[in-house]
Amino acid sequence: MKNQALQQLPIDAYRDQIVQWYRSPAASLADRFLCLVAETGAGKSTRVPRYLIDAGATVLVTQPRRIAARMVAERVAEELGEELGRTVGYRTASRDDSCDSAATRCLFATDGLALVREIMGSRKQQVLVLDEVHEWNLNVETLLAYVRGQVEGGADLRVVLMSATLDAEALSAYLFGARTISVPGRTFPVTEQKPCSTERSPADNLAADAASLARAGRNVLVFQPGKREIEECAAAVRARGVGAVYALHGEMGKDEQRAAVRACKSGRGVVVIATNVAQTSLTIDGVDAVVDSGLAREMHVTHGIETLRLVPVSKADRKQRAGRAGRTKPGVYIPHGPAAELDYPTPEIQRTALDSVYLRLLDAGYQPDSLCFFHAPPAQEWERAKRFLSDIGFIDGAGITAMGSRSLKLGMDPRLARMVIEGERRGVLADVIAAAAILQSPITDRRIESGGKPLWHSHAGGETRSDVIAQIALLRKLERQPGRAREMGCHSKSVADALQIRREITDRLSRTVPRITSSGDAEAILKSLIAGSPDRIYRYSPARRSGDWYCPADQSRRNVGADSVVRDAGEWRIGVPVSIQTQKGTYAHLLTCCSGVRQEWIAEVLPALVAESTVDGSATYSPETDSVTVQTRRMVCGHDVGRGSAPCLDQPRATAAIASWLVSL
Ligand code: ADP
Ligand code: MG
Repeated sequence: MKNQALQQLPIDAYRDQIVQWYRSPAASLADRFLCLVAETGAGKSTRVPRYLIDAGATVLVTQPRRIAARMVAERVAEELGEELGRTVGYRTASRDDSCDSAATRCLFATDGLALVREIMGSRKQQVLVLDEVHEWNLNVETLLAYVRGQVEGGADLRVVLMSATLDAEALSAYLFGARTISVPGRTFPVTEQKPCSTERSPADNLAADAASLARAGRNVLVFQPGKREIEECAAAVRARGVGAVYALHGEMGKDEQRAAVRACKSGRGVVVIATNVAQTSLTIDGVDAVVDSGLAREMHVTHGIETLRLVPVSKADRKQRAGRAGRTKPGVYIPHGPAAELDYPTPEIQRTALDSVYLRLLDAGYQPDSLCFFHAPPAQEWERAKRFLSDIGFIDGAGITAMGSRSLKLGMDPRLARMVIEGERRGVLADVIAAAAILQSPITDRRIESGGKPLWHSHAGGETRSDVIAQIALLRKLERQPGRAREMGCHSKSVADALQIRREITDRLSRTVPRITSSGDAEAILKSLIAGSPDRIYRYSPARRSGDWYCPADQSRRNVGADSVVRDAGEWRIGVPVSIQTQKGTYAHLLTCCSGVRQEWIAEVLPALVAESTVDGSATYSPETDSVTVQTRRMVCGHDVGRGSAPCLDQPRATAAIASWLVSL
C-alpha cells in the first residue's frame, strides 16, 4: 500500500487553524478545548486525527458505535497507506474486536468511560477527540463531564469535540468559552417526494419506493431502525426486482460492512439499507436518494425496564438523513413513518431514570454527583437517587453492593429489580414479576357497576389486602381468556402491555434463574413489594383539607383511590403515587395500586430505615429509682411510630438532669 493522493474535503480549508490551535500554548482552560461543527462527509472523522498526528500528537478518537470505530480506523490507515494496527488502530470493549499496537499514535475507540480511562491510563494522550457529540448519548455526556473535570483539575490534555449539528454557543460556554470552528456545508438540493401509499403495508410502501428509485438508476440509502427491519426490507426490495441490495448494521461480518459502504461507488441502481450508523457516523459515497422509515431504536426506561424502544426520530434527524441524498449531486428524499414531533433528539440523560444512571456511573468508577454535565440533571435529583439506592441496599459507603451489581445485570429499573430480588429470596418470584408488570401497567379501568362498586371488584375473588394481588389474579385469568378484558373491568391494551412486560422480565431472569415459580404466599409477595418501596410508605393520619395518607419521603399527603379493594387493612399502605389534573384545573393527589402492610413487615424488610432516637431535653432524674431516663422516639421510614423511655447513657446529659432536679428542690 502507498500513501494515497487524498481527495479534497471541506475540512481541509481549516487544517491550519486546527494545527495552530494544537500548537499554541494553552494559556487558559478554554484553550484546551476546540469545538468543530461540520456536515457529515466534510472530513471530520478521517481528516482531523490525521492533521493532529502529522503535527506530532498522539490522538484518541471516540465513536459511539463499534462499527464506526473500526471502519473509520480502517479508512484512515488506508489513506495513510499502512496496515491497520500500526500508526492507526482501534479498540472496543471487546478484545476480539480491537487492533492496535505500541506503534499506534491514532487510536479510535468506542466511547465507554471505562474503556477510555483504561486507554488514557496506559498511554500518554495529547489529544482526545470526541466524535458525534450531537448524539448526546449517555457515554458522550459522561465522557465530556469527566474530561472537563480532568482538565479543570490540571490534566495536560487537549480536547476536540466534533459534531454534525449542535448548539455550539452553549457548548462553548460550558467549556470555559472554547473556540468554535464551523465548516460551511456543501450540499446539493434535495427534493422531497411523497411516499408511495398503494401497497399492502407501510413496510411494502417503503420497499416499493426504494425499488422504483433504484430501477430509475439512483443509488438509494434506506434508513431502518434495526437488523430485523433491515433484513425484511432487503427481502422486499429484492422481491421487486432489484439485484444490488446491501445491508449495513453492527451485527454483520466486517467484509459485508465494507462492501456495503463501497457499494454505491461504482454501480448504479444500488440499494443500501442501514441503521442510523449511516446518518452521521459513516459516509456512503454516491448516494442520490434516501428513503427514510423515520424510526430509530433508542434506550428508554419504559415500564421501569430499560428497553430499546422504537421511536420516531426528531426533525433534526430527518434533516440529517435527507442530507445524505445531496452530497455529490442533487438528490431525492422520501419520508415514511410518523411525522417528527421533536425538533432535536432528547439527550439520553434526560430519558433514563437517574436511579439507574447513578448506579451505572458508579459502576463505571465515577462519582455521579461530582460530574458537571452539559445537560445537567438537577442536583436534588442526584441526591434523591443516591438516597433511594442506599435505602434499597444497592449502594453503601463502599460503593455498589452485591445486590446492586445483580440489578445491573438484570437491566431493570432499580425499584423493580429490588422487588424481584426479594421475591426470589422469598419464593414468590413468579408473582412478583407479575406485580412488577402490573405496577407499570395497571390493568383495571374505572367503570362502575350499578351497585356503585368498580366493575373489576366482582372479578377480584374477594381480595381485600392488596390491589396488586387482586390484579395479579385478574391478569392470570385474562391471559387465558384475553377476550374477556372489558367484561371483567379491565383495559385490553393495558392487559397486553402488562403481559408483555411480564414476558420481558421473565426472559431476562430465565438466563440466570433456572425455575421461575411462586408459593403464592401473600405476605411474602407484599414484603417483596415493600423492599422496592422505601419512599412509598404511607401511614393513615387524617387531615382536614388534604389527603389522609402521609409519606415523609416526599412529605406528600394523598387519598387512596376510590377503586381500591383494600379494606380495613390497618394504618400502613404502600402504593403508587399519581397526581391527576381535575376538570377545574386543580390536582387530585392519589395513591393507586395500594396494598395494606404491617409495621413489623416494614421493619423486617427495611431495617436500615428503622431508627431509635432520643428526644432532646427529655432526660429526667427520678429520686425513687435514683436513675436518669430519657424519652425515645422510634422512626420507621420517617414516620414517628411511638415513644418509649430508656436509661440515659449520656453522662453530661445525666449530670445536667440531676443538677436541674437539685435546683428544683
Ligand atoms: P465526517 O466525519 O465529517 O462525516 P468523514 O471523515 O467520515 O466525514 O468522511 C469524509 C469523506 O471521506 C467522505 O465524504 C467519503 O468521501 C470519504 N470516506 C470516508 N470513509 C470512507 C470509506 N470507508 N470508504 C470510502 N470513502 C470514505
Ligand atoms: Mg464522522
